[in-house]
Amino acid sequence: MTKKLPVLLNPYIKARYPYNKLKICRRCNYFTVLGDAKCPICGKAALQSVEKRASSMLQRSMWKARLIALLIIGAGLAMSGSTMQSSLSAAGGLALLALLWTIQRRSTPALLRLQLQKLFQNEAYTLIAGLVNDRDSAIQVFHSGNKPLAYEMLREIGALVHTDQLRIEQILLLQSFVLRKDMDLMLDPLLMDHFNPDLVEYIGELAKIRRDLLKENTFRYILVHEAQILKMEHGENILVGVAGAAVRMKRYVALYPYLVLRYARKLPKDRFLRLYRIIQSSPNASFGPLYEEVMNTYNEKFKWDEDFQRAGKDRGL
Ligand SMILES: [Zn+2]
Repeated sequence: MTKKLPVLLNPYIKARYPYNKLKICRRCNYFTVLGDAKCPICGKAALQSVEKRASSMLQRSMWKARLIALLIIGAGLAMSGSTMQSSLSAAGGLALLALLWTIQRRSTPALLRLQLQKLFQNEAYTLIAGLVNDRDSAIQVFHSGNKPLAYEMLREIGALVHTDQLRIEQILLLQSFVLRKDMDLMLDPLLMDHFNPDLVEYIGELAKIRRDLLKENTFRYILVHEAQILKMEHGENILVGVAGAAVRMKRYVALYPYLVLRYARKLPKDRFLRLYRIIQSSPNASFGPLYEEVMNTYNEKFKWDEDFQRAGKDRGL
């Protein structure tokens, strides 16, 4: 195994929608998630957010509609024969303009979303080409030796592009780093459907340092591929670690009792103590076979352990 690198990773800045970070070049129409101002293709400082682009497109079409309304009003005025008719069509025209203005203002957020959708549809090809290019840049950075930056770039692209290839590249990079608790790590976006030993090893690492990242999707993934994980070199240790993460919350124990049951006996003391407390604080029947397994393990291994006695006393047991 190659030696792991100690690295510093910049925190990941979350966006409300994945496309919030997507930029488009005003000059060459290139899409990127990696630049702030300078376009990676033409080199001009002409990047703007896709939302800004959609908003200016929307403004343009709104002005077009207003202009048409003005033309209709103008034609009405020109064709009216009397002062009475003119003033009527002027009043009608003003009302029409005011109405149009109000409708446009009220529907702007919805129209903006539609406009964005249209932009992505019309520019689908350049959008994909831009993101492929972004990924190539990340791989180039990787080959130049700056692994943390390559990972950060892939992470940005991964927010928009959900392919297993991109996930595997991120996992392999992460697995080449010394992972620490204080790092801004993620797991859910990297989960795949099929069995991947690198992903499983990464989950095993997180079970040691960031249990909070293991949630329903991870436990489901582990359960589906449990047999294959057991065949891995440290497979069982990883599964024990995952079961140790599941006892973090009573909800997970209730959702995946058999995962916990199968590895309960091998849990380190602090994790088992936690599980014991969860089981103790629930009515005996609610965990069925898991309750029995926990009580058997407790009787065999921890019955005389002071920490467990305290757990009982706290509850008045
Ligand atoms: Zn450009």
